[in-house]
Amino acid sequence: MNYFLSGFFICGLLLAFFYDTWSVAIGVGGLSLVAYYSVKSILPDSNLYQYVASLILGIFMAQYIYQMHGLFEMHFIAFVGSAMLITYQNWKLQIPITLLVILHHALFAYLQFVRVDGIYFTQLDYMSLSTFGIHALLAASIFFISGLWAYQFKKFSEKNIEQTYRIASLNEAEVQKEALLHANHELDKFVYSVSHDLRAPLSSMKGVIEISEEETKDELLLKNFSLLKGSIKKLDDFIQDILQYSRNSRMEVKKQSIDFAEMLEDITNNLKHMSSNNERPVEILYSVSNQKLFVSDKSRLNVLLSNLVSNAIRYQNPVVQNPYVDIQVNMTDIETGIVVKDNGIGISAENQKKIFEMFYRVSENIVGSGLGLYLVKEIVDKLDGKIEVESEPGKGTAFMVCIPNGN
Ligand code: ADP
Repeated sequence: MNYFLSGFFICGLLLAFFYDTWSVAIGVGGLSLVAYYSVKSILPDSNLYQYVASLILGIFMAQYIYQMHGLFEMHFIAFVGSAMLITYQNWKLQIPITLLVILHHALFAYLQFVRVDGIYFTQLDYMSLSTFGIHALLAASIFFISGLWAYQFKKFSEKNIEQTYRIASLNEAEVQKEALLHANHELDKFVYSVSHDLRAPLSSMKGVIEISEEETKDELLLKNFSLLKGSIKKLDDFIQDILQYSRNSRMEVKKQSIDFAEMLEDITNNLKHMSSNNERPVEILYSVSNQKLFVSDKSRLNVLLSNLVSNAIRYQNPVVQNPYVDIQVNMTDIETGIVVKDNGIGISAENQKKIFEMFYRVSENIVGSGLGLYLVKEIVDKLDGKIEVESEPGKGTAFMVCIPNGN
């Protein structure tokens, strides 16, 4: 705009060479520039200077018409000004220039018509009403189109800016997510290798204790060995829980055909020794109804069921005659429902809300890491399933799991 306005001023000076209108060229042109730059420097944060520019572009039109003694083509300068204003992307800027053109035409046409001396508006002697109408229509069209363009231009810019911001913030979020995933992955890898490496020395310690047990009949030593083995087992169980947690968060969900009857037989066989470790063996019952092709992640389901069943065994009720765990699997085409029910100590309503939290244990007296049910919940989430608990202290607990068929 600076270059254009200076250009308009210089054009006025050039015209003055031919038409000897120096006072108008310097006076009107100069004052216009002073007005524009004064407003711009006094109110730099306001867009008032743009409205001044709109008026000035109309004034330059009037100045050129005057300087060229009413040369009709100079009226087109108003259209040039109107088009230039599009750059500010504000349709309202078309209003001052339009009003000025109307006022100028009406006033100077009248003054020339009543033959005031020194007024040059048009070199034409006569303009028919239809010619005037066509001129007015064309001028209105140009002002309207310029206003419309300014409006569309602004909308387009706003959309573009918004899109750029959105893409930038999306990219940022994407980068952060990537970094977080990477950090998580590294942490999981670290946890996995540390846990894995910790288990090897534990099993050698257990081996050494078992050999030493055979070498002695000393009661005190045997008692201490048994305590040591207990602590090693506790540590080993804890490490296993961490390993399973790490595996669940790292590994992709697999799609394998599941044979629940076979899986439950393996689990109950593995956990049999656990019940005999307790004061009383716990009866483990299971049934699978409506067997069908079911596709899900085998090792995750194994961990899930093992954790629920081993909890049912561990949290048996000492005052109950026949502690049992009853596992019922009911399959449909869409999903499989698993219920693991026991007649153990039960969980109070208040504790039921917290048992799925990491490291939460109801009682510190019982051996456990507090990771089992947290891992169960994580697995259920990974498999897009649901888990609920129903329990009454002293009566027993039932965990209801629902896993969709990934078939
Ligand atoms: P933990 O390693 O302590 O067993 P879990 O996350 O597996 O950790 O279980 C959290 C808590 O929920 C346990 O400390 C226990 O008090 C309670 N709990 C879990 N399963 C049962 C159950 N079948 N009967 C009674 N209490 C249970």
